[in-house]
Amino acid sequence: MTRLFIRLDDAGAYMNHDNWIRAIALLDKYNICSTIAVIPNCQDAKLMSYGAVENWKDFIKEWSNNHVLALHGYNHVYEYDGLSNVRHKHKSEFAGAPQHVQENKIKRGLLLFQELGIDVQHFVAPGHSFDDTTVKIVSSFGLIVYDGFYPRAVKINGVSYFPLHFASLKNNLFGYSICLHPNTMTDEDFKNFEFFLEENINRIGDIRDVEYYKAGILDVLVHFLLNIIFKIKYFVRDINF
Ligand SMILES: [Zn+2]
Repeated sequence: MTRLFIRLDDAGAYMNHDNWIRAIALLDKYNICSTIAVIPNCQDAKLMSYGAVENWKDFIKEWSNNHVLALHGYNHVYEYDGLSNVRHKHKSEFAGAPQHVQENKIKRGLLLFQELGIDVQHFVAPGHSFDDTTVKIVSSFGLIVYDGFYPRAVKINGVSYFPLHFASLKNNLFGYSICLHPNTMTDEDFKNFEFFLEENINRIGDIRDVEYYKAGILDVLVHFLLNIIFKIKYFVRDINF
């Protein structure tokens, strides 16, 4: 049976606080360890519109007791336009940025977790957008890249990848990560989420127990094919709008 892992994106100094409290309470009710992607220094205008959460670091620290925290870039501002290694995006915080800029973002981002005394092992690229330079830097800090279409957690040339496939409650037949954005969840979304948790509780795994396998041909092939499909999908969407 395929395993599922829950990832929640975009926690930080600016967030829809009530929704986050609700999402975490729901996961805690079912005793589920999710991965929370934290933006260390959020400057994303859209997220800032939710308003500042004064004691956000206290919440992050508290959530780290039952959940795993991940480094979600540095400021969540998409100011570069390099092509991402996965999917197909024109805007990025990382892809296309010079090496020293990327390195600085990672270093400064990790300081937040050091300050809070929290161990962080995963890197979640904002907008699923990162390039080879990003991979080189984050892996040099011992971080696992949380993205890609591999059918299982893999290691390739010394870099560990934890896959993220379709990122929704409906498309999870292949297992692995379900990525939700609590900031934008509606009452209906929360209802569906709870229903989903009840239905799938036995399939939901703990990311801390995952084993990383040396990637085989099948892993690389599945990633390659799904990545191409997504690149075409995003490319077509971009020319339509
Ligand atoms: Zn994000």
